[in-house]
Amino acid sequence: MHSPTVFVATADLAGQVRGRSVPSDSLDRVLRRGVGWVPANLALSSFGTIAPNVFGSTGDLRLMPDPATRVDIPGTDDDPGVSLLLADQVLLDGSPWPCCPRTFARNALAELRERTGLVVQASFEHEFMAPDLVDERPFSFARHRNAEPFGSELVGLLDTVGLQPENWLPEYGAGQFEITLEPTDALLAADRAVLLKELVRDLARRHGQRVSFAPLLDPAGSGNGVHVHLSLRDAEGRLVLHDPSGAGGLSDLGQRFAAGVLAHARALLAFTAPSPTSYLRLMPCRWSVGGVFLAERNREALLRICPTSTVGAADPTSQYNLEFRAADATANPWLVLGVLIRAGLQGLGESYTPVHVWPEDVTETELAEVPALPRSLDEALAELEADKIVSSWFHPDLLATHLAVKRAELDEVAGLSDRERCARIANAH
Ligand code: GLU
Ligand code: MG
Repeated sequence: MHSPTVFVATADLAGQVRGRSVPSDSLDRVLRRGVGWVPANLALSSFGTIAPNVFGSTGDLRLMPDPATRVDIPGTDDDPGVSLLLADQVLLDGSPWPCCPRTFARNALAELRERTGLVVQASFEHEFMAPDLVDERPFSFARHRNAEPFGSELVGLLDTVGLQPENWLPEYGAGQFEITLEPTDALLAADRAVLLKELVRDLARRHGQRVSFAPLLDPAGSGNGVHVHLSLRDAEGRLVLHDPSGAGGLSDLGQRFAAGVLAHARALLAFTAPSPTSYLRLMPCRWSVGGVFLAERNREALLRICPTSTVGAADPTSQYNLEFRAADATANPWLVLGVLIRAGLQGLGESYTPVHVWPEDVTETELAEVPALPRSLDEALAELEADKIVSSWFHPDLLATHLAVKRAELDEVAGLSDRERCARIANAH
């Protein structure tokens, strides 16, 4: 059965999915011509206010839906279905709008491919809290069952719409769950990260349950991370991150890619961890990220070399991947992907010294000299402005709008306690 409406959407700098709906019988026309959109919408904050911006009341765009992103959320007796499509933001003549986050990701991937022949596979792992399903049994079968029928319906829905669910699990924190998707082409993986959160929220709404992907709901509680897994293939389709003779099994190419990410990490965080409470999560001893370093399998590393297994005669090279752990769901997945690719490309292209690969059991004392993460969003934004390489990747209007939106969000929660800040951000995400 056809859904009565089609919602054409983009994801913005506040990590929100926004757009317009049309009757489903106009889908063909909308696929050809798009729907109208407004440049100043890019300046909307997580709290729904418009930050100061260069666009003002002028200008018009089109949201051009990509049919490959379409998911059909089926209706139930009392709740209509909808088709959701993600879109590129283009100018009225169809040319790319230089501030479109999805275009930013696509361009970064295209440039990596043009300059190195490399293509990227990715997977975004999401953690979230369902505060109505709180219990104190981390990883337990009891919590898994307690979340029914929501859990089974979620896995079924993700499967039906083609998001390829991999794991659905009760996580450590009270009421915390995690959902992972199979790795896939990187742009598609970022599209799926945008869609996944909406599918989870929409299903929770149907069940009358609250969910939040915010980095922290309670300053003393567990954090919700978004861990981004990356692997690289060369033009011949060979996986190129793994070299058993390299430190930690990481190839020379992988070490240079990682070096670019580490060298610019403090500025990248302004995009990957862009909310006022992101930095309460990013602290040592939280299994989020304890500093700017690369390590084998250690869950406090900014970049983690993930484990591989030979059980069942599995091939380590096909599993080998790098995990970026300093992202959260207040970020725009296209920008997260785009900045990681640009930073990695920077490492491949310049004379970056290959990074040090710390062993899994590296101690806090040994890590004393690795660079610290920014301690606040304020600090990350200052790092972004100071990093002329990272700043240069963005159209000046996109960069200025990002800074303005994030500073507006900081102003909005200024003067609140950490607990109150967490509550504000949790409401918005
Ligand atoms: N919840 C942790 C985070 O904030 C991650 C725990 C894990 O390794 O799954 O990133
Ligand atoms: Mg987890």
